[in-house]
Amino acid sequence: MSGRSSRIAVVVEDRCRPNKCGQECRRRCPVNATGRQCIQVTPSSKVSLISEDMCIGCGICVKVCPFNAIQIINLPRELDKETTHRYGPNSFKLHRLPVPRPGQCLGLVGTNGIGKSTTLNILAGKLKPNLGKFTDPPNWDDILRHFRGSELQKYFTRLLEDKMKAIIKPQYLDHIPKSVDGKVGDLLNKKDERQVKDKLCDILELKQVMDRNVTDLSGGELQRFAIAARAMENADVYMFDEPSCYLDVKQRLKAAQVIRSLLQPKNYVIVVEHDLSILDYLSDYICCLYGSPGAYGVVTLPSSVREGINIFLNGFIPSENMRFREEKLTFRVTESAEITEGETYQSYKYPTMVKTRSGFRLSVVKGSFNDSQIIVLLGENGQVKPDNADGEEANMPSYTVSYKPQELISKISSTIANLSGGELQRIALCLCLGKPADIYLIDEPSAHLDSEQRLLAAKVIKRFILHEKKTAFVVEHDFIMATYLADKVVVFEGKPSVDCTANVPEPLASGMNRFLSVKFRFPFPFSPTIISTKKKRIT
Ligand code: ADP
Ligand code: SF4
Repeated sequence: MSGRSSRIAVVVEDRCRPNKCGQECRRRCPVNATGRQCIQVTPSSKVSLISEDMCIGCGICVKVCPFNAIQIINLPRELDKETTHRYGPNSFKLHRLPVPRPGQCLGLVGTNGIGKSTTLNILAGKLKPNLGKFTDPPNWDDILRHFRGSELQKYFTRLLEDKMKAIIKPQYLDHIPKSVDGKVGDLLNKKDERQVKDKLCDILELKQVMDRNVTDLSGGELQRFAIAARAMENADVYMFDEPSCYLDVKQRLKAAQVIRSLLQPKNYVIVVEHDLSILDYLSDYICCLYGSPGAYGVVTLPSSVREGINIFLNGFIPSENMRFREEKLTFRVTESAEITEGETYQSYKYPTMVKTRSGFRLSVVKGSFNDSQIIVLLGENGQVKPDNADGEEANMPSYTVSYKPQELISKISSTIANLSGGELQRIALCLCLGKPADIYLIDEPSAHLDSEQRLLAAKVIKRFILHEKKTAFVVEHDFIMATYLADKVVVFEGKPSVDCTANVPEPLASGMNRFLSVKFRFPFPFSPTIISTKKKRIT
């Protein structure tokens, strides 16, 4: 193995456009200047082709590319022999794989674009790992030999020889209404191999949409439908890619309950989840993925849940003495204690109010708030946000208001329409905080963000509100983000979509416990760095 082989060159296909630039990379590469073909671009090339063997890692091409399409990365040499898959030349590379354990739930955590879905597809047998040899892919015998002596050999042998059935609840659900047609109830009847439909539909609150066509489901309903459909099937390997997306806190816990109920002594359950408290709840052990998004990903060895989440947050693997991120993702939960109510901060009062719309009645108990304060609204979907919410909240008297809606598309111009959900979310947040106002209404800032981006977004909101002496009301279902953001919480009680009361703003701990204690016993408060490893079961 040569030293050079530990360098990877990645060209992002949808950014590199050799016919739209002056091919600066090829012209400025010092290796090309010696007459060798380190960077090749032929008249028919769709993208530049970079030879990793010839590249000397000067980084000039990275700097001169006008589309930011190139990454040149030096990797530890040891990773070379642990390459699991590479999609092609100058494309994403995955190192190692997590080892699924029968009868246990494996949690995967990592930033977007780091290879989590690639990992699931390989473990599901949908993507044959090429061990990095994309020009001459190995056969299954070679692949089993590569994993010889590890549990993965047993796993893949079972997958191939016992023909284990592996199913995935995918991350993106938008294809579901396009590929299946019919009523929710009829479709679920066809899937009910385990005879659990009634029970699951009850837990996942699907009973009220049984007669509805799949095309008419909201994001949260579609998520619960997809989880139910997968959980009704008989399978040996169940995989759930981001099951909490679009769900409120209680629905997240119920979805987690359904997923954990699938565990049997011989089957496997694997979950990718960005809500770290839900990941904590779901998992028996954790593997983190680190690397450079879009370029390469490395799977860590399995850890206990607490250790795994701390590895991810700290960006440091103690057993390998390896730092993969400069900054820790921890934060001071006590930041809010810096605010002393009524002393240096202006206090505002609001009266008792009632709002009725389309059969939904919202009563607001009178209360007060300060500047430099974030109030998190805690409720179920249909409580904090009536089904037909249209941003009318923005018409509050005498205050100027900036509003970040849950749905991002309508406000974004078409020139940036093909950005990812996470990119749109971050733009919407900047637009909201960038508008001068007294009060900021921020609806689900964590949606579409990975765990790392969530913590960074929470910090940005917190610092902005604190230092600009503004007030924010935030709807947030990610437990860790909500607890970090909240100086006070308003608990919504009542029947979703019918009749709700918004209680007086109260301290975080009492509000959270009251909100969750209705049906769940959830440990609170906790610090993200000391997340409990005790497996909690909902009773
Ligand atoms: P995650 O699930 O962690 O967001 P993915 O496994 O989906 O990450 O993707 C990791 C990287 O692999 C991304 O940069 C993605 O663009 C790339 N990728 C995924 N599928 C393919 C493919 N079929 N061909 C080339 N690149 C791919
Ligand atoms: Fe050429 Fe490698 Fe330098 Fe890029 S980093 S210009 S490919 S030698």
